[in-house]
Amino acid sequence: MRKILMAAVVAAAALVCANAQTSVSGPDGKLKVSVSADARYSVEYDGVQVLEPSALGFKANIGDFSALKFVKDTAYTVEQTYKVPTIKASEVNYKANVAVVTFQNEAALSVDVEFRVSDNDIAFRYVVPRPRTRGYAPGGIRISEEVSAFKLPAGTVSFLTPQSDAMIGFARTKPSYEEFYYLEKPLEEKSEYGHGYTFPCLFKTAQGAWVLISETGVDSRYCGSHLSDWDPVKGYTVAFPLPEENNGEGDAGAAFSIPGATPWRTITVGKDLAPITETTVAWDVVEPLYEPSIDYKYGRSSWSWILWQDASINWDDLVAYIDLSAAMGWEYTLVDAYWDRNLGYDKMEELIRYANSKNVDVFLWYSSSGWWNDIPQSPKDNLTTAPSRKKEMAWMKKAGVKGIKVDFFGGDKQQTLRYYEDILSDANDYGLMCIFHGATLPRGWERMYPNFVGSEAVRASENMVFNQSDCDLEPEFACLHPFIRNTVASMEFGGSFLQRRLSRNPQRGSRRVTTDVFQLGLAVVYQNPIQNFALAPTNLTDGTSDICLDFMREVPTTWDETRLIDGYPGKYVTMARRHGNTWYIVSLNGTLEKPVKLDLNAICKKLGVDPGVSSAKVYSGGNDAAVSTKIPAKAVDVAQTDAVVAIITPWR
Ligand code: CA
Repeated sequence: MRKILMAAVVAAAALVCANAQTSVSGPDGKLKVSVSADARYSVEYDGVQVLEPSALGFKANIGDFSALKFVKDTAYTVEQTYKVPTIKASEVNYKANVAVVTFQNEAALSVDVEFRVSDNDIAFRYVVPRPRTRGYAPGGIRISEEVSAFKLPAGTVSFLTPQSDAMIGFARTKPSYEEFYYLEKPLEEKSEYGHGYTFPCLFKTAQGAWVLISETGVDSRYCGSHLSDWDPVKGYTVAFPLPEENNGEGDAGAAFSIPGATPWRTITVGKDLAPITETTVAWDVVEPLYEPSIDYKYGRSSWSWILWQDASINWDDLVAYIDLSAAMGWEYTLVDAYWDRNLGYDKMEELIRYANSKNVDVFLWYSSSGWWNDIPQSPKDNLTTAPSRKKEMAWMKKAGVKGIKVDFFGGDKQQTLRYYEDILSDANDYGLMCIFHGATLPRGWERMYPNFVGSEAVRASENMVFNQSDCDLEPEFACLHPFIRNTVASMEFGGSFLQRRLSRNPQRGSRRVTTDVFQLGLAVVYQNPIQNFALAPTNLTDGTSDICLDFMREVPTTWDETRLIDGYPGKYVTMARRHGNTWYIVSLNGTLEKPVKLDLNAICKKLGVDPGVSSAKVYSGGNDAAVSTKIPAKAVDVAQTDAVVAIITPWR
């Protein structure tokens, strides 16, 4: 009897081997990855296909790994609880089932594809062993092309932003990840520049599943990637930087020591958008690359440049913004470009002493140095080399600077990724936090680099100051970021304007089309652990309502939990973020003609909060902001370009 059983087991194993197919599902069993013997993977959720068989592999100097044959697989599980203070949730419990599938190429060289599958997320990467061939054992690998593909089913629509041409735009600084979005387009639609699309990329299948594709764990050991244009046979493939980036300087591929691994490709899947907005996959599969040198503090900041522009980088205006931070109880002020020319280092030390006397700390702007572009802004050339960078950072530490905003990187080549890492690592040695503008998407960096705060990598608030058309697009774009850009990384948007017209002179400049309460809502919806808010000192005396000012005094910038209640990309979003035991619930109606129905009692129930034993502040009224301490008994209407914001704190 026992022999028969054994034979049956062997037969079953042989059958699996003949198909040579591996499958791995998430802990709740709904998200499933299947891998074929010829190294194609497909994905289904709750029995419905969301990715058709898609290629795995790459081409490298040590061999062509784009045609692979199954060898074996191993399976295990991972579970960990980790803390990151700078993302959408302060503590994350990550559980995943792992399959490591070993393939060989035609030259019998091995590569492992490691899949981690949690309830709504897939992450996969290539793990390359050091080959043992007779007489030669290469110590490194140069990858020139990935064939990794994402073949979405026919009828899927896309929500995408194009990858820019290199060396175009202001002072030839692009790509700076500040392009427009194109919504609900067919897969076949060609991208604006013909270079495909910037991560993260959102899709909705014809069967109604939402799919977010991105990458994480990209550091100095790889380049940043994006998605190609659609190919009817392959689908989308992972695309490397353009050779023209960085003025043509540097390789467009990736090289690392072996044994070693590529970054993770990530796929988040949900029947609704909650798993998209709530995903933590960008941080689940990465590790801190160093310990924080000090206990970094986050908070709110004033920023003179956003409304008062270059002319504000002078003693009196910067003092006015320090005084604004002091009056608002904000922790920081950000001093933008040309401070070295307009104030100089001695005067800057004096300004920092003044700020500190008001309990305000200072961030300073630096050029990335950009010898590969033509920017005029200074200080320039201080961060490019390790010796000059360390000398500058030693001065910053002595002067009491708490962080830097480094601008105008442009590009995803491995040399640029290495430059970000070098700045971050050195800055940590001097107790400095880093904000990046004109910069690529952060890919797991909040956890990998503990002094990383946030990156722009979005068409941010400055464009609303520059162009009326960006003000006109604000209602739509504000309802995109919770599902796309801001869900995979902190977003340095620099928002929440309380002036109606966006310039130093409140009678001039582009006109904001969203309401004051909408701007309050953005302080919660846009997540960045230090928020450079766009208020001006004049907001304290120009009749801006105390209701709005008091909200901006109290709003936190770090969150313990984030929940999506409802929404649709570009149309509306209702979401809740928890700070301590207080819930901030925001409903933004961007572009829906009919009102969004906001039922705060139902949301409280969903969040496990009893409104009967909670204190509440409910902000409504658009540009005539009003606050009520009562949660409305029935659903309230949120009109187009308006918002309702509720702060709810249970008594116990
Ligand atoms: Ca910018």
